[in-house]
Amino acid sequence: MPKPIPKKLLPNLIQVGISRCLLGEEVRYNGGHKLSRYCRDVLSHWFEFVDTCPEVEIGLPVPRDAMRIVDTDKGIRILEIKSPENDHTDALSSLAGKKKAELDPLCGFIFMQNSPSCGAFRVKIYHPNGQSLNTLGKGAFARQVQRLYPNLPVEEAGRLMDSKLRENFVTRVFLYQEWRQLKDADPSRAEIIAFHSSQKYLLMAKSQRHYKLAGKLLARAGKYSISTLAIRYEFILMDGMKRIGGRKGNTNALQHMQGYLKKILNGDQKAELTSLIESYRVGEVPLIAPLILLRHYSGGASDYYQDQSFLEPHPKSLGLLNDI
Ligand code: SF4
Repeated sequence: MPKPIPKKLLPNLIQVGISRCLLGEEVRYNGGHKLSRYCRDVLSHWFEFVDTCPEVEIGLPVPRDAMRIVDTDKGIRILEIKSPENDHTDALSSLAGKKKAELDPLCGFIFMQNSPSCGAFRVKIYHPNGQSLNTLGKGAFARQVQRLYPNLPVEEAGRLMDSKLRENFVTRVFLYQEWRQLKDADPSRAEIIAFHSSQKYLLMAKSQRHYKLAGKLLARAGKYSISTLAIRYEFILMDGMKRIGGRKGNTNALQHMQGYLKKILNGDQKAELTSLIESYRVGEVPLIAPLILLRHYSGGASDYYQDQSFLEPHPKSLGLLNDI
């Protein structure tokens, strides 16, 4: 795990929501917690966590009866297991709307997996007779947060153990924060286009399709009001960034970046960079290896090249590019 940097040396922290039990608070139905050391000990040096326990916030005690998602005659409901007449669906679903002031500034949300309230993906759904069904759903609170904030980067703590998902989520949080800062400052069309210019290769690495869609949209920027342009651009950007481009996508972006160094590098340097990108493509070295070389040569390159967030999408000290 990377060594944390003392908080006083860090810039402003990014506000990110989190299920309260992941911070070690004993708020689970059984009186326990689900501490995520990665969140508490590493991400907390960059993120200011805004914690929520939806079940406690709708007035349930700790400990309490366990609940689950049930496919009933009245649709998908969140029912207590022992007393299914106790239906908490409406209270949990409406909570996100009531917490708007707290949720609005967030640039990401880390949920607890497998929870009927907080699970953001693939939570088990049950038949009223208690049998587990083949279909999967989302926790009631997490579903509503995602409905109200469709572009908000969302992940589950369990999935953050996967290096690709972890890197993707953290990249999206930093990018979303940067975009939100621009959006809040009433940008001009030119400023939105300039913002996109520096994200081009990051988006290309994740999704060629979204990269092309964003290009087409911004080529016709003058046809839209600025607010419509910002809404459309944000959707394309954040939807594209959810994709895991993998080695194929990253190799493509690396090769495009290499193209900008054509006139700067001599033959040996070009060959070394080409060989390193190929080593990355076939899985011999992690992404950080060719990126270090691209960063190393950035001194002589154009501002456009140097501004590419693909070169450093998040703080080096997180070490996330060493594992993908
Ligand atoms: S998963 Fe959500 S509702 Fe359950 S204890 Fe954790 S924060 Fe509370």
